Amino acid sequence: MMIYLDNAATTKPSEAAFRKAESFAMEQFYNPSALYKEGYALQSELKKARSALLCKVADENAFEWVFTSCGTEADNQAIFSFAKRGNAVTTAGEHSAVLAAFAELKNRGVVQTRIAPLQKDGRVDVEKLLELIDEKTSFVSVMHVNNEIGAINDVNAIAKKVKAKNPRVIFHSDGVQAYGKIPFKLCKEIDLYSVSAHKIGGLKGVGGLIKRKSLVLPPYLIGGGQESGKRSGTENVFGIKQFQYAAEEKFAALKEDYQRLSIYREKLWQGLDKEIFVRLSGLDGTPYILSVSAVGLRGEVLLHMLDDKGLIVGTGSACSSNAKTRYSKVVLACGYDEKTADGVLRLSFSSLTTEEEIDKAVEILNETGRELKRRMQ
Ligand code: PLP
Repeated sequence: MMIYLDNAATTKPSEAAFRKAESFAMEQFYNPSALYKEGYALQSELKKARSALLCKVADENAFEWVFTSCGTEADNQAIFSFAKRGNAVTTAGEHSAVLAAFAELKNRGVVQTRIAPLQKDGRVDVEKLLELIDEKTSFVSVMHVNNEIGAINDVNAIAKKVKAKNPRVIFHSDGVQAYGKIPFKLCKEIDLYSVSAHKIGGLKGVGGLIKRKSLVLPPYLIGGGQESGKRSGTENVFGIKQFQYAAEEKFAALKEDYQRLSIYREKLWQGLDKEIFVRLSGLDGTPYILSVSAVGLRGEVLLHMLDDKGLIVGTGSACSSNAKTRYSKVVLACGYDEKTADGVLRLSFSSLTTEEEIDKAVEILNETGRELKRRMQ
């Protein structure tokens, strides 16, 4: 039996949603921009998908949905379309889709960039964030749920405070780890919100940027004028419909999953050997992520040993195969030392995670941690 606990990286696509959408891959393969009825009919399918995906988190009278190719594109579009003057502010906890885009803004010299620090629990320090905002701030980006530690920022409250300080700011939030997982409705102070399909049973390669209707969104990709000119490129109709069906399934199970996974997360933590593992995720973080550190051991080595025993886990973003640095910047930004950052394991769950898998994962984690510790002595 293989146990998959790296659901924050990606989830297994919903098979039911896949089957339901299948005809959009092989039969209704037409270009939605075509004028004949077969193509044109797909426009209304896309419209239904936009509305179904949007209404779960936002008032459809005030917000609209733009399909993108992934969460990264949604983040990039928000940033490069709006961070154009004065200064732009974000947090040290962001995904590289935001942090690397901010680094690029800085390189181009377009705007001054400012990074707000984190608290120990992984949430942004709101007071310090507010101190960075002044009359020249054009853009602020604060993630909803952190993908490494699982901390939840109260982005509705933060957006309100930011706008109270400077009402002209465009406020963006990366909701990739929150959408379909955390009960939430966007307040009117949030201008832009990024989403990705593959974190909730959708396929890779589909995302969305939710925007306030009255905000004019300059396109990031230009061409054929799809998505009302806001994002050109022939729509991935099959991926979009599969995302719609997967999201409908996920939102229907949201509350139940939230409660069940909260119990599993605590059960997993209770079972872990405290001589080996320390906990990084706070109690009030997302129930989908438990981040721990085997202090003094290398998370990456543990990951491979666990993999050989049939348990797949993550180590947090920085240790991914594309990473330039050994340590997770986010874990260091929470104030942990390098030894702790080096030992990080991220255990992340999905609707499909079972109690039996949690019990087995505890066994494998303890056994493997002890084995590596013995080897190190
Ligand atoms: N933002 C966060 C918080 C994420 O966790 C991820 C995915 O790891 C992304 C953005 C990027 O999303 P995508 O893989 O769809 O580009």
